[in-house]
Amino acid sequence: MDYAELLERAKKQLPEVTSSSERFEIPNVKGHVQGNATIISNFGQVADTLNRPKTHLLKFLNKELAAKGVIKKDQFAIFNTKLPATRINEKITQYAETFVLCESCGKPETKIEKVGQALFIKCQACGAKHALKRTI
Ligand SMILES: [Zn+2]
Repeated sequence: MDYAELLERAKKQLPEVTSSSERFEIPNVKGHVQGNATIISNFGQVADTLNRPKTHLLKFLNKELAAKGVIKKDQFAIFNTKLPATRINEKITQYAETFVLCESCGKPETKIEKVGQALFIKCQACGAKHALKRTI
């Protein structure tokens, strides 16, 4: 299936009336501290909900939290330091706002596109395209 067909199909799948009350909820991490490490048990789900690669999200968190995290079993993330879940959730929100949510309609059905050296967020829901404000 090529891009035009995908687009056509996506349009057909859109509900006729979009309700603004159906706001996307940014997922919260489930985490606990064990010794000097912090274990996020639903990291894979969080990345899936945001529709971004786990490695991309992890790289962002490592940088923002000044921590070193690894992914285990494609689901857990383990950071080498004690981190309160609230702080991680703040960063997840920041990640979603920067790399996932459409600036025009607020929906999460977006893709990151590379044009030359520039990165854009392309919204599959409303078609808007915004330059990414930052990279990781
Ligand atoms: Zn949009």
